[in-house]
Amino acid sequence: MRNITLLPLIFALALPALSQSASGKGTSTMTDSHSKLPWMSATLAKSEKALVDKYGEAQRARAQRGLKQISEFWNDKDGNSAAFEEFVTANFAGDQATLDTMFNRYDALLEQYNGHMQEVGREFRTQAELDRGPILPFDDIFAGYDPSAHFIDDAFQNKMAFVVLLNFPLTTLDQRLTEGPNWSRRQWAEARLTQLFSKRIPADVNLEIANAGAESAKYIAEYNIWMHHVVNDKGERLFPAKMRLLSHWNLRDEIKSDYADTTNGLAKQRAIQQVMERIVSQTIPAVVIDNPQVDWNPFTNEVKPAAEKDSDFAPSPKKPVTNASEPDTRYAMLQRTYKASKLADPYSPAAPTFIARSFEDNRQIPEQRVRAILEQVVSSPEVAKVAALIQKRLGRPLEPFDVWYNGFRVKSKYSEAELDQIVAKKYPTAEAYRADIPNLLVKLGFPKDRADYIAANIIVDPARGSGHAMGSGMREAKVHLRTRVEKTGMNYKGYNIAVHEMGHNVEQTLSMKDMDYWLLNGVPNTAFTEALAFVFQARDLELLGLSQPDAQAEAMRTLNDFWGTYEIAGVGLVDMGVWHWMYDHPNATPAELKAATIQIAKDVWNKYYAPVFHKKDVVLLAIYSHMIDSFLYLPDYSIGHMIAFQIEGQVNKAGKVGPEFERMVKSGNIAPDLWMKNATGQPVGPEALLKATDEALNVIR
Ligand SMILES: [Zn+2]
Repeated sequence: MRNITLLPLIFALALPALSQSASGKGTSTMTDSHSKLPWMSATLAKSEKALVDKYGEAQRARAQRGLKQISEFWNDKDGNSAAFEEFVTANFAGDQATLDTMFNRYDALLEQYNGHMQEVGREFRTQAELDRGPILPFDDIFAGYDPSAHFIDDAFQNKMAFVVLLNFPLTTLDQRLTEGPNWSRRQWAEARLTQLFSKRIPADVNLEIANAGAESAKYIAEYNIWMHHVVNDKGERLFPAKMRLLSHWNLRDEIKSDYADTTNGLAKQRAIQQVMERIVSQTIPAVVIDNPQVDWNPFTNEVKPAAEKDSDFAPSPKKPVTNASEPDTRYAMLQRTYKASKLADPYSPAAPTFIARSFEDNRQIPEQRVRAILEQVVSSPEVAKVAALIQKRLGRPLEPFDVWYNGFRVKSKYSEAELDQIVAKKYPTAEAYRADIPNLLVKLGFPKDRADYIAANIIVDPARGSGHAMGSGMREAKVHLRTRVEKTGMNYKGYNIAVHEMGHNVEQTLSMKDMDYWLLNGVPNTAFTEALAFVFQARDLELLGLSQPDAQAEAMRTLNDFWGTYEIAGVGLVDMGVWHWMYDHPNATPAELKAATIQIAKDVWNKYYAPVFHKKDVVLLAIYSHMIDSFLYLPDYSIGHMIAFQIEGQVNKAGKVGPEFERMVKSGNIAPDLWMKNATGQPVGPEALLKATDEALNVIR
């Protein structure tokens, strides 16, 4: 579910804008103004002496640390040696009182900046996001504008960032994890403050990263397969006319829905697997991509002019009908995102590779731990047991595409129509839902006064789309619940989403308004806020006064989640392997990257999947489009599943949602493992998921 929150807006600011829609070929030459300044080492020694002379020997270590930290970011445009010395003398907080004042002022002022930028951004997007009449072209200009896009650049230029780096410690993830458990809240807040300014990536580098992301996203967005033109040896068409599937999402989802087709399902699934393998291996004929004018047999790879017409769509310019392969474009796109990301390395001293930034800055879980966690799932004894169960339910041996098995479902006790009726009666308008929020929170176990306090902070708006939650950037602003209500009243789908988004709003309220330091507002990452929102969503029927899904249904849901985690964990391992290979082979050709990706996908498959599927050398784990345009994002999915099980398990143990929810979110934006230890006693890991799977296996046999 979409959760628009700028909760760590300021942290997001420090990251390259991955989704910027900038276009054009980023051929800028990267200027390295960061190269060692000839006067720096003498100036550092001189400045250190000046600070110790002024504030005493006790301040030497702090002075050394601060000077080193600013020297890593200072460039010739920031000033000469005299300017450096002057800046240091004026801005070093040499006693505790001054340091406290400085810290508190930054905490308060950054809250104001962040909060108001969030408010401006929300207002600018109002017409685009709310159901308030036509969107005019200029509304999109407002909606696309990010008023805080240049914050980090500005903060270095005006030296707001250098003041922080001179006075507070930059930390590594390793320090935050090993020393963090003994830190005070203030120390954590200081760590978050300096993290804001731990990178100074030049605008041209950020632009190139955005361009690379945009170009590969465009490649992915246009990668459709016209399924009516996928034919078998007899020239038969298995798929309906006009069916156009985007790789990989729609192809995968079609495999899932084909389980319901008892006539042609299996043949369709096998054909899609073949299509996917051709995409990964780039043996797919270039002419069949997004082209309904040719028929293609993915098994023989034969291509012919289409014998049937189901669309006027044709690629332009027209391509000759041959089975000449796509020329490794997939891997050229991936490689460009790598090369662009690497340009930022010299400007990120604390996390000097993209892989480090991905794990240490974004995910905040060390790479080795993420790898170990994923491997723990794919090599768990539960895999064979669940696989045997699937095989029994299918009544045939597993085939590789069964990594997308979706048959762990039970029919709901209530029909969608029944539920629609109940919900529409209860919530004829968005206002009716808003008025009921305090009651809903009381039903979830929040004390009445807390329910009223939280509800008073939630503004309900009519959304254009399906709904989303929007957090605030400061304590004095409210959070927004965007929900869609039809003229006939709210329907069940809208209600189910509204309950999920309300979960986000409650988290956003508590983790902002009640936080001791603004710098610690929020949760460690989006997986946490999603898991907390699902705690609410899973209780939607109960909130309507209906009975919740029974043990059977819960067990099915768990098995479905386990199988999904097993699948996506392998995909994450491939993504990680490929990024390492790219860093190890910076000058590889796209063809070499293709060969390496195929080998990595096969290796992961052969180790963790072949024993279950009894087939070796399958490359399906490399089909995910995120691998090409999403910059090492795939490991997040598995971690998200695990976090959801940990949080849900803890809430179930506590019995009541309300007090436990409040207790958990109080930790704020500290390291994920510490947050989870405070919440459940354990760091982030798959144990809760595996335990729930064992229990589910006792229910479903
Ligand atoms: Zn969500």
